[in-house]
Amino acid sequence: MWCIDDPRSLIELSIHKSRSKHTNKRKQFNLTKKEKEYIAKIGLIKFREDVVEYVNKMIKFPRKTDKLDFCEDHPLIPAKFASGLCCRQCMAECYNIKEWSTLTPEQENKFVLIIMKWTQSQMN
Ligand SMILES: [Zn+2]
Repeated sequence: MWCIDDPRSLIELSIHKSRSKHTNKRKQFNLTKKEKEYIAKIGLIKFREDVVEYVNKMIKFPRKTDKLDFCEDHPLIPAKFASGLCCRQCMAECYNIKEWSTLTPEQENKFVLIIMKWTQSQMN
């Protein structure tokens, strides 16, 4: 979830109104200065741990299995939308992952890597 007044929530809404890849809309997601500073502060190793936690708890199984322990305005939020990994419906569109399937360890690693690559590209 976004902080209430984050304008990026409007892009999310339009993406989720109809299920398709929305490649151009996903490209509109960027990390804010504040989010980059947050990543610089916690470091990419800790950030990656948060990404792993997100994948495990929120997208590994057909249904969310748990809550995330970290704050709601985490830079992972724009990262997951930009990467097409915000929800299982979008993953089905963007990566052809069956909505009822549980991710394999290989898929989990792949998606962690995709989020990390996007994040690192934003940090440059
Ligand atoms: Zn989605």
